[in-house]
Amino acid sequence: MNLATQNAIATGENYEQTILIVDDNPTNLGVLSNYLKTYGFRILVARNGESALQKAQYVQPDLILLDVLMPGIDGFETCQKLKTQRSTKSIPVIFMTALAEATDKVKGFQAGGVDYVTKPLQFEEVLARVNTHLRIRNLTKNLQDQAIELQKTNSALVKRTIQLETSSQLGREVTSIIDLDELLARVVELIRSKFNYYFVGIWLLDDMQTLLRLRAGANAEGVPLPGNELQISVKEEKSAVARVARTCKHFVADEITKASKTLALAHLWAARSELVLPLRIGSECIGAFEIMHDEPAAFASNDILALQALADHTAIAIRNAEFYKVEQQRRRLAESLEYTGRVLTGTLNMRHVPGRILEELATVVPYERGSVLLQKGDKLHSVAQRGYPTNSQTPPMNIPLNSGDIFQRITKTRRPLLISDVTKDEGWQQLDWLPINHSWLGVPMISRNKVIGMISLTRRQVGAFSLDEATMVLGFAGQAGIALENARLYDEITQLNHSLEQKVAERTEELNKAYQMLERLDKTKTDFINVTSHELRTPLSVIKGYTQILDLLPTVNQDEKARDMLRGINTGVDRLHQIVNTMLDVARIDAEMLHPHPDEIRLDQLIKTIRDQFEDALQERCLSLSLSHLDNLPKIEADPDLLPKLFYNLIVNAIKYTPDGGRITIEGHKVAPPDAPGYVEIVISDTGIGIDPEHHEQIFEKFYQTGEVSLHSTGRTKFKGGGPGLGLAIVRGIVLAHGGQVWVESERYDEENCPGSRFYVRLPVNLANANSEVDS
Ligand code: ADP
Repeated sequence: MNLATQNAIATGENYEQTILIVDDNPTNLGVLSNYLKTYGFRILVARNGESALQKAQYVQPDLILLDVLMPGIDGFETCQKLKTQRSTKSIPVIFMTALAEATDKVKGFQAGGVDYVTKPLQFEEVLARVNTHLRIRNLTKNLQDQAIELQKTNSALVKRTIQLETSSQLGREVTSIIDLDELLARVVELIRSKFNYYFVGIWLLDDMQTLLRLRAGANAEGVPLPGNELQISVKEEKSAVARVARTCKHFVADEITKASKTLALAHLWAARSELVLPLRIGSECIGAFEIMHDEPAAFASNDILALQALADHTAIAIRNAEFYKVEQQRRRLAESLEYTGRVLTGTLNMRHVPGRILEELATVVPYERGSVLLQKGDKLHSVAQRGYPTNSQTPPMNIPLNSGDIFQRITKTRRPLLISDVTKDEGWQQLDWLPINHSWLGVPMISRNKVIGMISLTRRQVGAFSLDEATMVLGFAGQAGIALENARLYDEITQLNHSLEQKVAERTEELNKAYQMLERLDKTKTDFINVTSHELRTPLSVIKGYTQILDLLPTVNQDEKARDMLRGINTGVDRLHQIVNTMLDVARIDAEMLHPHPDEIRLDQLIKTIRDQFEDALQERCLSLSLSHLDNLPKIEADPDLLPKLFYNLIVNAIKYTPDGGRITIEGHKVAPPDAPGYVEIVISDTGIGIDPEHHEQIFEKFYQTGEVSLHSTGRTKFKGGGPGLGLAIVRGIVLAHGGQVWVESERYDEENCPGSRFYVRLPVNLANANSEVDS
């Protein structure tokens, strides 16, 4: 073991320590160097002040032994210079001086020396002083190192405190902010200002997970904001933000080079280091947190951990705010759908409905341009538009349908279709007069299970519609489809009504014409009957007169054959007379000239008299005709000429339409309130062939006969004997003239089983009261 090792071990110091000896005397230098070398020191020498300064700077010795008296700059000056330089100022300097005066010692200490040794040198003393000062220097250095260490720990603690503070402030504040944009702005500003970062930004992934959009950014004062419309594809290889969003792992750059700087933030020129953290919710990454510092290597691993905790906190707050936003949108949608439902069902005008749809939709899903398009044949026609250029020269929007285009895609899937960027879509047909809006949302309108058209919405930015919005518009389109269908049906019904009304008007016009025609014909017929019957009456009276004269002539009277012939002529004339009278009655009824001249009439006597006229016929046809309860009837006021005709016709009909051997009954009763004269009701029933209910009204019209007229047998009282079809018309005329009523009841027409008929005649007891009582 040599001396140096011994010394090193003895002092506990590194024997590799370097001492610079400065002396202009080479002998002194040599002796001292050798001595110190034996104690393991590395020795450097310098012969003058200048060289000493250079070497000291270059080698950084642990101690300098400096001669005071030297040519050139002396030891004091050299020491002063050493003390002014940062790299050499802490090196301890021991002066070597032959001058033992106190002024020199003071000067040496003033110049920055720590000690001095006097020449001639006592080597042990020199060694002892050197070792002492080296130990002091080492202790000081250690202390300094510790101080630096302490300072560092302290600043880390301060940083940590700020982080904790920020974290708790963030926790407090962000939970109370429910608006997403406000939340993001607050978070970036808070973090930037607390840590004094150069830039803090939050990037969020869009719904389709294809684009990252800078949603909020906070910059150091005086640094321009990058604008909030920045976006990058998540596939962008060069972007740290995109990489972090893809991998969900943080990225840190201690020194930002031009190449590594986020493209989008290129103008943040002073950024030196960058940290990008994933915004995580469980294993899902919803975006990235980008932080920049204007110093290099500003992000230690501790910082990264703490900032990641902040980012995680923020991610959850973002998700909550998004949920809240979606929830709010849903509520707005539900309200709007309900409102729209009400408004639209109240709007049945086809022209107003599509416009209303776009109007209401804008309150739920904002858009820049919107239209409602309906398919008509091989084209889509726009029936309502919003946000389109309002230029008189704007052509109508008719879009031809091609196979594979967007409408066909929607029709096939019956689902909304989102296009992030129409300029990159093959099936997109851009109308050349419209400025390009990049994002498009198309939603089918379905009615009666068929796609009838679509709602088309656009926004200027790329990827601006979310899936949530698409779902909302779909709900809306459902309402719209129903409203349009309602409007269409209403339109159809209105048109149908219109055409029906027109048809009804046309038919009424035709009917009116026909009615007028019939009225004219009827009048002609009535006139004809009137004229004919009047014209026939006179010659008939003449014939009747002459037959009566002929009957008195003996030549005729005594000639059996001639008498028979005369009887035949008489019967014929009587029948003709009767028919002519009947025709005259009908003509009078038609002309409303049948005015009864009332007298008191006993109906039982009247009916009996008429029955007696048919005595022979009833016998011949083996018919029974019974009268019941007629005796109890009160006398009534009626025309004694008209009333016999009334009952005559009804009884003749009963006889005519009842087969041989049948029964005819005539009964009567009073229908009256106790304190009023009231009515009498006579019912003539038979067991005849009956009448179908559909004819019950018409048989009272003149000339109306059921069955084939040509098949009728002739004869007044023969079974199904023919007549002119005037009997019941006269009956009704007479009854109405007396203020009474007449109707028939019969189950059906059936010649086989003969269900029979019942004719009801109701006549007022007191003719003067007739009308008022009938009315009541
Ligand atoms: P007609 O001269 O044909 O008897 P009416 O006016 O007296 O004319 O009667 C009209 C039609 O009503 C008759 O053709 C007959 O078909 C029907 N009719 C009238 N009375 C009866 C009855 N008692 N039973 C069945 N049918 C009757």
